[in-house]
Amino acid sequence: MNKSDLRRYVLDNAVSYKGKANLKAVVGHLIGKFPNLKKDMKKFMKELNKLVDEINSLSFEEQKEKLEKLGKVEKIKKESGLFDFLKIKKGDKVITAFPPEPSKYLHIGHAKSILLNYLLAKEYKGKFYLRFEDTNPELVDKEFYDIILEDIKWLGVNPDKVQYASDYMDLFYELGEKLIKKGEAYVCFCDSDKIKENRRKKLECGCRGNNDWKKFLKAKEKSCVIRLNGDMKHKNAVMRDPTLFRIINKMHPRAGKKYRVWPTYEFQNSVMDGYFKIRYRLRSKEFEAMSELQKYLQKLLGFKVTKTYELARFNMEGVLSSGRVIREKIKGKELIGWDDPRLTTLVALRKRGFLPEAIKDFVVSTGISKSESTMTWDDLIIRNKRLIDGVANRYFFISNPKKIKIVGFSEKNISVPLHPDHEGRGVRKLKVLDEFYVADKLAKGKNYRFMHLFNFKDGEFISEGLDKSLEAKLIHWLPVSKDLVKVKVLMDDGKFVNGVAESGVKKLKVGDLVQFERFGFCRLDKKGKELEFIFTHR
Ligand SMILES: [Zn+2]
Repeated sequence: MNKSDLRRYVLDNAVSYKGKANLKAVVGHLIGKFPNLKKDMKKFMKELNKLVDEINSLSFEEQKEKLEKLGKVEKIKKESGLFDFLKIKKGDKVITAFPPEPSKYLHIGHAKSILLNYLLAKEYKGKFYLRFEDTNPELVDKEFYDIILEDIKWLGVNPDKVQYASDYMDLFYELGEKLIKKGEAYVCFCDSDKIKENRRKKLECGCRGNNDWKKFLKAKEKSCVIRLNGDMKHKNAVMRDPTLFRIINKMHPRAGKKYRVWPTYEFQNSVMDGYFKIRYRLRSKEFEAMSELQKYLQKLLGFKVTKTYELARFNMEGVLSSGRVIREKIKGKELIGWDDPRLTTLVALRKRGFLPEAIKDFVVSTGISKSESTMTWDDLIIRNKRLIDGVANRYFFISNPKKIKIVGFSEKNISVPLHPDHEGRGVRKLKVLDEFYVADKLAKGKNYRFMHLFNFKDGEFISEGLDKSLEAKLIHWLPVSKDLVKVKVLMDDGKFVNGVAESGVKKLKVGDLVQFERFGFCRLDKKGKELEFIFTHR
């Protein structure tokens, strides 16, 4: 990328952030778009930092004027080749969708589906829809509409449309009635055990031919369902007269008590994809068996068939992913909640300080393949670290502090840069007297070096600064002072570490990322009497 493109990006970001370019956002965006930049992050960050400072010192008007001259950012684009295998012709209308059920937290596996479908749409200048598949009032939970929307926006995905399947009940009814009239579906009065048994034994029940839709809509029987007139001998069990509608008499968060007959996931999904011309869908492998039914229903209803492509799930080594197990562990207080730092839900990753661009980079790297892959935390961490290393300012933090006294030197004021590679960001000033906090247990007769300060042994000063002739263990310190801030860090094992940090952290805002030197990256999560951070990674 050349210099004027980079300038254009920063200006564009500054203009959209009311005159102040957001370094974190610019880095993330550029790395996502130009992965080559990662080869020399240090140089790139240096250049970028300078540019951000320069552009932020301009007035908003000047920024707008300069951006106008250079031209808007959309002109820089990347051909990824990621979707070549779909053999989409130029000019084909590409509409994709991500259809979550508002009943659970999204995790990193969903992020893969969301991002791939979104990137596919963007690459072909198509559209991407977010569709809430909320036609099972027994599972739908009101709060998840907002949580999911927030997660998706955080990932940097802006859906062209947000849809709610429960808004299309008239459409489902109309098409259901059509199938019944055509003899393609029937009202089945068997109970669910009987239906299951028949499917297993590949037997038809005596209900085929029952075709009174109106009567079904008013039916009292809880076990009365509409089934597809399929093929009970089909080798794919999904095709053995699947249920299309069932009666669920429950309050729905959007529709209230208006409906008691609801389409099943299979019917709803096929109709919505067909009706809204979703041409391509990349989705996880567990839907493979369902694809045959979806195609069958779409043809039956006169829709163009959605081309689906099933991806392997990827697993994160040692991370719980089963919603049921997670729920139990939260109940049993083994996990803090869905945002527990041990989980890979998007809420947890966001709170920990992972950037959406790192997640994007990570999930795309797992590839579009049908074979399962196991990834580790390190695969994700390495990508995040690249992005935040140059962004996060450094501070001193001492966990489980122990007080020590050192004699033999005169008190002084020292300055330490907020970031060693970016002097323009300024310094932190510390007043050093003779008392210090350290995290380490100090051994007798051993030399120690206080980072940026001096060397000592057994509480006595030896020499200043980086004395190369002396072998000394580098340790971390803080001057004892009433300005220090009490800090609590929620670690990646779910336990808290308590300590003190230098006073500069008081100025941080919730959401800021810092690097506590020799401890790790942390994100400020709560500000109160003490500051509460969440450990991002080392
Ligand atoms: Zn039956």
